[in-house]
Amino acid sequence: MKTYTGGCHCGAVRYEVETELGPVMECNCSHCSKKGFLLHFVPAGQFRLLSGEQNLTEYRFNTKRIAHLTCATCGVESFARGQNRDGTPAVMVNVRCLDGVDPHALTIRQFNGRSL
Ligand SMILES: [Zn+2]
Repeated sequence: MKTYTGGCHCGAVRYEVETELGPVMECNCSHCSKKGFLLHFVPAGQFRLLSGEQNLTEYRFNTKRIAHLTCATCGVESFARGQNRDGTPAVMVNVRCLDGVDPHALTIRQFNGRSL
C-alpha cells in the first residue's frame, strides 16, 4: 500500500491515507453530482486526519449515515465519514483532493447513487 496525503484548498484540513488507489467511484446522486466527487473508500483505520478537525462543518442528508465534512474556511469537502455495509467505520476520500494524483489517469466507475 501507498501513503497519500491530501486536504482542502486553504490547507486547514490535512490528512494522510494508506491505500491502493484502484478504480474510483463517480456517483450520480443529488449531492455527489453537484460537488463533482471522485470517491475512494478506505477503512477508517487507514485514514489519519493530521489537522483541521475543529475547522470541519458537518452536513448530513437523506439517510444521514454519511457525515460530509466541509472546511469552514475554503468550502472544500476533501473527505467524508461513514460506515461500510457491515457497520464498520469507513472514510470516503475525495480523490480530487489528494496531492499529486491526476484524476484523469485513474479508472472511473460510475455508481448509480441516484437510484438508492
Ligand atoms: Zn480549507
